[in-house]
Amino acid sequence: MKAHSDSPPAFSWDDWYAGLGGREINIPEVDELLHQIFHEQFPRFVGKVAEEKKTFRDPEEASRHLKAKAQEFGADIVGICEIEPSDIYRGRAIEERFAIAVGGRMRYRAFQTVPSKESAIECIRVYYELGETVIALADYIRGMGYSCEIEHPIGDSNLLHIPIGLKAGFGELGRHGSIIHPKLGPLFRMGSVATSIPMATDHPIDAGIAAFCDKCKACRIYCPANAIPDDRSPEAGKDHLGYDRYVVDTGKCFPYFKKYNYCSACLPVCVYNHKEWARDFEGFETKKFPDVIFKDPPDAYDGVASEKKHSYPRIRR
Ligand code: SF4
Ligand code: SF4
Repeated sequence: MKAHSDSPPAFSWDDWYAGLGGREINIPEVDELLHQIFHEQFPRFVGKVAEEKKTFRDPEEASRHLKAKAQEFGADIVGICEIEPSDIYRGRAIEERFAIAVGGRMRYRAFQTVPSKESAIECIRVYYELGETVIALADYIRGMGYSCEIEHPIGDSNLLHIPIGLKAGFGELGRHGSIIHPKLGPLFRMGSVATSIPMATDHPIDAGIAAFCDKCKACRIYCPANAIPDDRSPEAGKDHLGYDRYVVDTGKCFPYFKKYNYCSACLPVCVYNHKEWARDFEGFETKKFPDVIFKDPPDAYDGVASEKKHSYPRIRR
């Protein structure tokens, strides 16, 4: 399946970093995890497909089985959706029909001060852990006699993670541009494995979260780069519930997170993190609200060639 002609291009991070003088974040633990992702995980994306196919009674059984396996391999949340051309980055293609989306929780206790080295390490730790999850799931699917493709959470994937996550029922799109899960809030990362095994699919949810964003502006107020908007943008297309989208100004956001440990302040300040679960799921005491370090934002910069610029996909209902 090829991408829709309206699909956005994959963002060219290397060009973008080069335009701003290269990468700045220098944290040994982050460097080590990135090395492991690119040099140890990426080569494990492919494998041999078994000759004999496991059969399932019906798509529901296949779905249940693979969701249980994904959780066994480390996913905190799992959902399944059918891939559409608008879910694929411009100029790319995918052979498979369904995406098994997996999410990995980031620990709120690592986001008590943002931006910080702790929060940066936690982001990359979850990319790594979830990378292990999608590789294990893909190996398992090939072992059952089916082909599949890995969409690693760290990026340069063929699929756009956010539309896939929304269709797979992970939550609703927040003002800060991330999906908010009813239980995990926005502090999670996503990846997926695409396969054509016939499976029952999930659907977008309406838990009143996106509607609540119209009344809450916590992320807008606490964004140090002033990148989160006051209003929705009708020209940016609809989300899966039919709302106009909020569009984060990436020209302001990206330079800030490049300079200050991937920022991420908008995630832990989101009110969906710390109502009942400030104990961080595992009993760790946490602050109810993180300390956000406000520094003077760098100049806005969105300087890659226009055909490679980040743009928000027009999600179709
Ligand atoms: S990552 Fe930081 S700069 Fe970017 S939108 Fe979130 S709070 Fe603002
Ligand atoms: S902080 Fe408030 S406005 Fe921002 S995404 Fe979370 S709920 Fe929505």
